[in-house]
Amino acid sequence: MASAFVFLALFLGALLAMEGVAYLTHKYLMHGPLWFLHRSHHEPHTHAFEWNDLFGVFFALPSIWLINEGVTHQSWMLPVGLGMTGYGIIYFLFHDVVVHRRIRLRGVPQWPYLRRIIMAHLVHHKTHARDGAQSFGFLYAPTDLTSDSR
Ligand SMILES: [Zn+2]
Ligand SMILES: [Zn+2]
Repeated sequence: MASAFVFLALFLGALLAMEGVAYLTHKYLMHGPLWFLHRSHHEPHTHAFEWNDLFGVFFALPSIWLINEGVTHQSWMLPVGLGMTGYGIIYFLFHDVVVHRRIRLRGVPQWPYLRRIIMAHLVHHKTHARDGAQSFGFLYAPTDLTSDSR
């Protein structure tokens, strides 16, 4: 296994790349052919779970596989799998806990960055429809939220 520096670079690279994967999945699959699952997240309801939660399970599977292979063969797959898992944890804390309050939290910090990405996701939820939504990213949001491009 390579040095700690390479390990950390692969971990952070995978974590950051997952924002791109999540953005593309959200924009082109969830608001596309997989809308029948994602729709549950855009409509008000009182259930504890949504069909949309299956996406989390779906992304957990390759992460678990990568971590398992990476441990077995002492390879690059370990930091990449851990980076994917790290993104999943941050995504869950931000999206499900901070924005959608699926777990009650008090004292969310008022960092400008956090306020900006919360606002961006609320902009995304302005629509309950498959088409016409904006702002598909989660942990990255442009400062200008009125642009139609995201
Ligand atoms: Zn959506
Ligand atoms: Zn949401």
